[in-house]
Order: sequence, then C-alpha cells, then structure tokens
Amino acid sequence: MSKKIYLYGNWKMNNTYAETEAFFKDFPAVYNPVKDAPDLEVGIFAPFTSLWPLSQAAKKEGFIFGAQNVYYEASGAFTGEISIPMLKEYGVTHVIIGHSERRHIFFEPDEMIAKKVKALLDAGMTPVFCYGETLEERESGNTFTVMERQIKSAIAGLTPAETAKIIYAYEPVWAIGTGKTATPAQAEEVCKWSRELIGQKEAVILYGGSVKGSNAKELLSQPDIDGALVGGASLKPAPFIEIYTAYKG
Ligand code: PEP
Repeated sequence: MSKKIYLYGNWKMNNTYAETEAFFKDFPAVYNPVKDAPDLEVGIFAPFTSLWPLSQAAKKEGFIFGAQNVYYEASGAFTGEISIPMLKEYGVTHVIIGHSERRHIFFEPDEMIAKKVKALLDAGMTPVFCYGETLEERESGNTFTVMERQIKSAIAGLTPAETAKIIYAYEPVWAIGTGKTATPAQAEEVCKWSRELIGQKEAVILYGGSVKGSNAKELLSQPDIDGALVGGASLKPAPFIEIYTAYKG
C-alpha cells in the first residue's frame, strides 16, 4: 500500500457555526469518492464555537476533528481560556499546538507550548505540534537552530512512546498564507532532518504553507512528508479534497 496521507485543514478564525453547517452541506459530494481510501486520513480543526457542528459532521462523514489551541490547566482562574476536559466533552481528540500565529501574534513561548503538548499527551490526546522559521531566520542562516530549539523544547522530558504519539507539522512562517510555498526539496530537507532530531523513524511529519492542488503532488511525494496542514485551501470542500486527489492523480 502507498504511504498514508494526512490531510489536515486548519480553518484558523474562519467559519462560524452557520458557515460550518453550510460547509458540510457541500462536503459529502467531494469527500464521498475518497472517504474509504485506506491511505487517507482527513482532519479538520475549527474555532471553538464551531466544534459542535463539526463534531456532528465528523461522526456522520467519518473524519478526525480538533481544536486549534487549548490551555494546559484543567480549570481555574484563566479568563478566556479553554481546557482539555472542556474539549473532551465535544469528543475532540486532536489539538493544534504552537501554530506560528499563536507564537508570533499571541507571543506563546516554547515553555507554554511544551506544557500544552505534555498536558494533551497525559490526557490521551494527539498534539499537532507546529514549528518553523521566519523569513528573517532563514535568510540569516538560522533555520535549523531555531527549529532545533522549538522541537527540543516541546519533546524535552517525554518518553519515546510519547514523542511517537505527536503529529509534527513543519510550517515555515514565510510560506503560511502568503502563496509562497517551500520547494519540495526545501520541505523534504527539513522534514528529514526533523525525523532524525525527533529520533522516531515512524514519526508523522506534515508540511504546511500554501499547500493546494497545484503543488500537492510534488510536496506529498517526498519521502519524509506524510501529509499537509492546510489553511486557506481548507475553507471550501473542493480545493481541500483536491489536495489528495491531485497527489493521487
Ligand atoms: C496554516 O494555517 O497552517 C497554513 C499552512 O495556512 P496556508 O495553507 O493558508 O498557508
């Protein structure tokens, strides 16, 4: 069998409750032809307020769903935050952690991201851990230093069994939402290097940054890229699923 492809959509702060319901009116028509493919895992990550309609659709259509953030404490005086037990009530199994927008707009430090990863693992959930360099860091030759800090911080103190449960997503900041994609060689270089650093041959490593149907085949065919974390192209069913069909094509 060909390798399994993880096609994960990050809606960011898009799709209200009503828009989520509308999305799933159109979704089955494009998802049904591929939903039983044994080499495809679809996941959708929505804003908290859309998790309920998303959970209902996930149950009906058969795909993984998750949140885009969580706090690491279970309850208490943390105004504006959402806890793991709160997400579990909705059936959430996966949570994106350390997305570059959380790191750079909301200034989440490595230490906080590491605590979130650990709290999710302790709860039996799957962190989708994002890391990646800014353009400035790449151009100054610091790509690998920055990513080594980000990854080592997230997995410090975890057992090999725990690091194997994380889904990793390499997302160069300069390629997110910009229309600029890392070349397949650039993305493969980092994903291969990450696999060695993590120390898990079987680690699941996604690439994210302006992935769409037109660049999917080249990117997803790289040996160390197990799938895509998709922002813009995941907001409508057809361009999202097209990423998989173009890869297979
Ligand atoms: C993302 O949100 O993680 C992302 C990669 O966005 P885009 O596909 O729009 O670049």
